[in-house]
Amino acid sequence: MGIKAILFDIDNTLIPWGLKHMDPAIEAWLRDLCQQGFKVCFVSNNTESRVSALCCSFQVPGVHKAAKPSRRGLRQALRAVEAGIHETAMVGDQIFTDVLAGNRLGVYTILVTPLEGKEFIGTRINRKLEKWVLRRLNRQQ
Ligand SMILES: [Mg+2]
Repeated sequence: MGIKAILFDIDNTLIPWGLKHMDPAIEAWLRDLCQQGFKVCFVSNNTESRVSALCCSFQVPGVHKAAKPSRRGLRQALRAVEAGIHETAMVGDQIFTDVLAGNRLGVYTILVTPLEGKEFIGTRINRKLEKWVLRRLNRQQ
């Protein structure tokens, strides 16, 4: 598909919200992705400390307080990895932040099943709307 860069949401995509450590299997998979030559960038609505800890560990750039579904954070990420819109994918667990931001910008979007765990109050509200959207999308297939 020509994808060279992958932007990752963090909370409930790579690490459960509120936890500090990544599952070793996910960490190994992500390191392998970097070794394969994919340019990786973390794009999170969470704080600088949350994002920078992961950036240091993986030696990749990151954008904190990205304000997804705004496109601003994703644009910043594309500049950081020096990738174009058509060679970039956005991976995240939320339709109304990660996927919406990615689709608005025009990158390829991948919605993943959220990791188990607690969630931010705003996320819990969005999940109800997500369920409704996903039910409709599944009916159309
Ligand atoms: Mg998330």
